[in-house]
Amino acid sequence: MSQLNLVLLGPPGAGKGTQADRLRKDFELPYYSTGIILREAMANGTELGKKAKEYVEAGDLVPDDLICDVIAERFDSGEADNGFLLDGFPRTVGQVEMLDGLLDSRGRELTAVLLIEAPDDEVVRRLSGRRTCAKGQHVYHIEFDPPKHEGVCDQDGSRLIQRDDDKPETVRNRLAVYHEQTAPLEKLYEKRSVLRRFDGTRTPDEVNDRIRATLATKRFEDDEQ
Ligand SMILES: [Zn+2]
Repeated sequence: MSQLNLVLLGPPGAGKGTQADRLRKDFELPYYSTGIILREAMANGTELGKKAKEYVEAGDLVPDDLICDVIAERFDSGEADNGFLLDGFPRTVGQVEMLDGLLDSRGRELTAVLLIEAPDDEVVRRLSGRRTCAKGQHVYHIEFDPPKHEGVCDQDGSRLIQRDDDKPETVRNRLAVYHEQTAPLEKLYEKRSVLRRFDGTRTPDEVNDRIRATLATKRFEDDEQ
């Protein structure tokens, strides 16, 4: 069976996290979100984890080559022999080149780059409708999952607030950064014919079905060769 070496791309609020959860279960793939694997490396106190911790504690960004080494360590652990799901890396063209080197040197290549798209207005509508209770535990959506009484948490009666991260202007800024960073990656992966686009405005089930169908076709083609 061919490998499923996957990269996930998509703006915040397009449902990337939901699809990642499903894919890792559907295909039993290890999920490498850069935030998670860095935290795990730090928690396990590996040499790389210790290095990463120095940057994090100093409030600095963990450099690309160190992130790459952490990913390489996971690739080489054997857990990713059938494939992996990479999220949050690569984000820049430089990181794409680093990932290329990492895969090339191991005789592997990307199976597909899954891009889950949603128009900016839809993302703003989804994210800015979120309300979080003042105790911080419960999340609602004014449109899709409203509380029984406006502005009040069903669970504990506390007041519902809009987090700064969910304010429309903050969401628009995050989207602008996302587009600026990701547009060159889209072009690059499209040129290599590995980019697959999915409509994130569809239901999570529909998006999942389409991704699975795409991957099944891809695997079939790869196995035929
Ligand atoms: Zn609550």
